[in-house]
This record gives sequence, structure tokens and C-alpha cells, in this order.
Amino acid sequence: MSKMMIGRRKLIGSAIAGATLLAVPRAFAATEFVIGETPVIALSDGYFDMPADMFLGTPQSLRDQIGDPAQIAANTYAYRSGDRTFLFDAGAGKSDFITQAFSTVGRLPEDLETVGIAADDVTDIVITHMHPDHVGGLAVNGQMAFPNARIHIAEAEWNFWNADGIATSAPDALKPMVGFAQEISKVIKSNISLHGGSDNLGAGVNVIPAPGHTPGHSAIILDGGREQLILVGDLTVHEGVHFANPEYGWALDVDGEMAVKSRKSILDMIATDGLLMGAAHISKPGLGRVLRAGNGFRFEAV
Ligand SMILES: [Zn+2]
Repeated sequence: MSKMMIGRRKLIGSAIAGATLLAVPRAFAATEFVIGETPVIALSDGYFDMPADMFLGTPQSLRDQIGDPAQIAANTYAYRSGDRTFLFDAGAGKSDFITQAFSTVGRLPEDLETVGIAADDVTDIVITHMHPDHVGGLAVNGQMAFPNARIHIAEAEWNFWNADGIATSAPDALKPMVGFAQEISKVIKSNISLHGGSDNLGAGVNVIPAPGHTPGHSAIILDGGREQLILVGDLTVHEGVHFANPEYGWALDVDGEMAVKSRKSILDMIATDGLLMGAAHISKPGLGRVLRAGNGFRFEAV
């Protein structure tokens, strides 16, 4: 049993039921579902078209299968508990940086409006990592987009993107993302709440480390009573790639080797414990079960 598994069990207990998921697709883009006794909302920020060769190590046959460019979803999730309203990742936003590169994302505010969540209502935003498509939506015109929200980020993640000198010392490919993360950091600075990697944020929301994609990349576990939901961020980017062979890479991983290690161990945990999984970039709404298959896994969408 991995250290990570023990840590998670300690956090949320071992009673993981294999209860069924009730997916309630609505006429709008958001999907409401129930985890245990807890309603959760899957939201869409749009989608990205990404070159298939960004899935490192994949054979041409697989690239043909997933399409080139491969379309990857941009999912976020929301959850209300008492007087707290949680958002899990904040979408890409509509800054020039985003819209010049991608016109197909930044739609989260419309989905939030559709489900009746106003920006002022959001009390907590849990960030899996500080890539632009996950934190860009925290700012609008240099101001906090969710002015009343505490923004929960792993200390390791915050420190990586805001390290002294990283803006000049980072590899060229990473520099634009460093600049973006630092701009966002300035805007949200007074509202951040840094956690140590494994933490209980209250209202049944826990975080565990899932490093590699970025140094402080975190997964979020929502305790729904008799069922648990794990939101894995960018641990898996495509259902056609990272399950059957978790060793395939992703060009945006900061530490590819560590990303593979985290992917294997967390997918193993999800399969073992029968958790419901949600992923930022798996086809909308990004929800499913993980089953063992051969030397890897299989994703079964729900
Ligand atoms: Zn992402």
C-alpha cells in the first residue's frame, strides 16, 4: 500500500461504498449529479484542440484514433454545503493570453449563471494546479472574479510559480505560463489559503498530493457520505491515452516521470476503492469509474 493511500484513508476513513451514481443531464451544459447524498455540479469551460503529438510516447496509430488535433474537454465542478459554495478549479478566463491562443474556452461564467451560482456566492475555490486553464478564470480585468472566495492552493504549487528568479530561469516553453501564474498570483494574493498537500478543507473536502504535472498538483476528494468523488485535475488528460497505458506522457508535465508515478498510484487507488473520478480534460462531464485492464486501466464514463 502506498504512503499516499494510507494518507487518504486516514483523511476520509475506509468506508468506501460502491454506490451508484445518479447522473441528471439537463438541457444546459452543466450536469448535476449526486455523490452519496451530496449534489455536485459538473460545469464546462469549453474545450481545447491540442496536437496529438503532445501525448508523448504514443504511437501514430493511437494519435490517429484520438484525432489530430485531439479535442480535450475543460471541466470544472461546483458543490454547495451549508453556507459554503465550492468551485473546483476556475477555468481559463477571457484574458488576451487565453483568447489569442484558444477561442473555445472561458465559458465557465455562463455555466455558473445557468445553475444559479453568482460570482459573489462562491466562498471557496480549490485549485488543482496553477496552469492558465485552471486559474485564468480567477481574474477579470486585473480584479478578483470571485471577490468573496478563499482560494486554496498547495504551498508547493504557489512557491514553484512564484519562486525568486523563475521568470528568467524557467525553460523557454514554461516562461509564458510562469508569467501568467504570477499575474494571477498578484490579483488573488490577499485571498489565498495555502495548504500542505494533504489537508482537510472542511465541508467534506480534502486534498491529496498528485505531483508531477506540476510540483504542487493536487487531487481533491469530496466525501459524499457513502460515496467519494475524486477530482484529479490533469493527472489524466485523455481517456483514450492515459488509462490503457499510464506511462504515456503529456507535453505540459513539468516532471514527466513523477507525473507517471502519481498517475499509476492514484488510478490504482481509485480502482481499488471504487471511487467516482472526475477529470479536468476527459470528455464532458469528465466523470467515470476506473477499472483494471491488462497492465493498465480502463475508464468507464458515467
Ligand atoms: Zn489543464
